[in-house]
Amino acid sequence: MSLQEDSKKVEKEMGKSLRERAEKSRLVRQKELRNHMLLLGMGLALIVIMVVVVSKVVSLHSSNNSDVAVANDSEKQSAAKDKNQQQEDKEEAAKTPEPTKEPQAEGTDKWLRKDLDSKKPMVALTFDDGPYAPVTEKILATLKKYDAKATFFCVGNRVPGYPDVVKQAYGQGCQLASHTYEHKILTSVKKKQIIWQVKKTDSTFEEIIGCHTTALRPPGGAVNDKVKENVKVPLVCWNVDSEDWKSRNTPKILQRCQSIGDGDIVLMHDLYPTTAKAVAKLVPQLIKKGFQLVTVDELFYYKDIKTEGGSVYFSGK
Ligand SMILES: [Zn+2]
Repeated sequence: MSLQEDSKKVEKEMGKSLRERAEKSRLVRQKELRNHMLLLGMGLALIVIMVVVVSKVVSLHSSNNSDVAVANDSEKQSAAKDKNQQQEDKEEAAKTPEPTKEPQAEGTDKWLRKDLDSKKPMVALTFDDGPYAPVTEKILATLKKYDAKATFFCVGNRVPGYPDVVKQAYGQGCQLASHTYEHKILTSVKKKQIIWQVKKTDSTFEEIIGCHTTALRPPGGAVNDKVKENVKVPLVCWNVDSEDWKSRNTPKILQRCQSIGDGDIVLMHDLYPTTAKAVAKLVPQLIKKGFQLVTVDELFYYKDIKTEGGSVYFSGK
């Protein structure tokens, strides 16, 4: 091989290697560019996604705010409405006089039977200081079993707590009577307070059974001229004291009731389970002896006692 040929070959080889290198570096650049483009694309896509998410969150938040604003507005409106209504109610109340609560029914229609035998002995069991459902219900069950009636001198402020038991007593023909609204010793309060205690008890009964009371038992049996003047129904005391509150003992209560006679008014309290147990035994015993168990209004009616408001009565004798 000649020197010329050799140098040509070398040139050729060199040219070839240069072209290859150029080609290689072009491919590398292309690859790099593709990678860059890909990254850029991904970056853009991420930005777009983020923009969409952020805009969604913002729109959701602003719609909540507008809901709150609407709610606030409607609350404000309804508060304004209430205020207007209250104002109207006040004006209406000022125009119309305080409604005088007339009883819807006469209590005596329910608790004064007119078909009893006036010749047979009668006794009026009376229960003070209730109602108290756990005990009053048991007493009512005994009375119902023997078709017996009794009188419940309720403390007015206890009545709304036991409306069902009060309705039940009324439905059974028992007499609902007043023992004042707050068990007030009426001799130690002012005239205004006596009147309030009576009226408040009556309006409470009015709401539950639709009628007023026709008898009041003064707490502690305490009566003076001021009480007599200001209570417009008969003041009903008792002549047989079971002392159930003192003994809280069923045999002792029954023992104290052994002397019961015609026309008696017996004092008990529908607060103690021992009283309810005594009543369960006493009622059939009295019926066996020939007694009719009556309300105080029935006792006065059949014993021909013309009762007057503010007068005190201890028995039907
Ligand atoms: Zn009492």
